[in-house]
Amino acid sequence: MSLPQFKLLTAETAKAAVELLAMYAGRIRVLAGGTDLIPSMQQKLFEPEYVLDVRRIAEMKGIHERPGRGVEIGALTTLTTIQHSRLLRHRYPVLTEAAGTVASPILRNMSTIGGNICLDTRCLWYNQSLTWRQACGFCIKKDGDLCHVAPGGTKCWAAFSGDTPPALLCLNAELEVLGPSGVRRIPLCDFYTGLGDDYRKLQPNELLTRVFLPEATADYRGVYRKLRIRGSIDYPLAGIAVALKRSNGHCADARVALTAVNPAPVLVKGATDALVGNVVDATLAERIGNLAAKTAKPLTTSALTPEYRREMIRVFTKRAVLAAAQS
Ligand SMILES: Cc1cc2nc3c(=O)[nH]c(=O)nc-3n(C[C@H](O)[C@H](O)[C@H](O)COP(=O)(O)OP(=O)(O)OC[C@H]3O[C@@H](n4cnc5c(N)ncnc54)[C@H](O)[C@@H]3O)c2cc1C
Ligand code: SF4
Repeated sequence: MSLPQFKLLTAETAKAAVELLAMYAGRIRVLAGGTDLIPSMQQKLFEPEYVLDVRRIAEMKGIHERPGRGVEIGALTTLTTIQHSRLLRHRYPVLTEAAGTVASPILRNMSTIGGNICLDTRCLWYNQSLTWRQACGFCIKKDGDLCHVAPGGTKCWAAFSGDTPPALLCLNAELEVLGPSGVRRIPLCDFYTGLGDDYRKLQPNELLTRVFLPEATADYRGVYRKLRIRGSIDYPLAGIAVALKRSNGHCADARVALTAVNPAPVLVKGATDALVGNVVDATLAERIGNLAAKTAKPLTTSALTPEYRREMIRVFTKRAVLAAAQS
């Protein structure tokens, strides 16, 4: 599949990048690692007039500890760097574990944390070549007006399928976004809309520049579990992150989050209340598994059935909660 024609622009600073985004808003796409953008352009899902290569922006790279305030990660930091960071492995293990499951080692060398957070939602009927989509009929997410997954509805249910956002949700991460009128900071839990076709709250003239991990969630035990067809490379078809703090054998704080089963990564409703103050045993872990299965809304957006994915959410969540409590 060939790439559509586009003009390549580069920026050396975040400010210069935002100026270019503002100048060509709606006609331009940011290229970070390019591991999702380029295949999507080959499938003619995006046909921007301009592509803005931001990879030379040094201020958006690296992992920096801010004593007493947590850790800052530049949006262009690669997932390999995050996976192998001793600081993050020690203080925020759920993130390094999730980063280490993305795609394959070669793709992680290119992929950035910013690209993983901004990743487009996925659907069996959407992530296909133009010829395939033309033959089967376009849909709401691109060029059409119906949904093959939920016919009769007007909403797109394409699933958000990034691995690191559920881990970041468990850590109460925040994002820094730069736009023409300056910097804004937004909790990750407010970044996604829950709509498959318009999935993130980022204006076309804005750039995600940094991710903040708060000091308050440092040193939590962390576990990430992922369902995928090929263990060596695939996107998640269900993913569960758990971050948990223990005190005197009891759970002092915890969060559980899901990916790939809703149009946004989501925190499991009721999980924190159920866990805090209690000793985590198999019965409690099973209860959290049931809450996770209730929060998950898998539909026929992938090769595996919704029933199987929901059941795996239940099973993997139970195992992940027990593993986090015992680690
Ligand atoms: C075979 C294969 C398997 C994969 N498996 C997985 C998987 O298991 N798990 C997973 O999570 N992903 C997977 N991916 C998708 C992708 O590799 C990762 O999500 C990766 O982290 C994307 O990062 P990137 O830097 O390459 O993003 P890009 O492709 O450069 O960008 C992705 C999107 O984010 C936007 N963007 C990027 N950075 C910014 C920024 N700083 N500000 C604003 N917008 C931005 C881009 O414009 C684009 O829309 C897979 C991809 C392939 C090809
Ligand atoms: S959920 Fe429906 S509208 Fe969204 S990509 Fe899939 S088929 Fe298209």
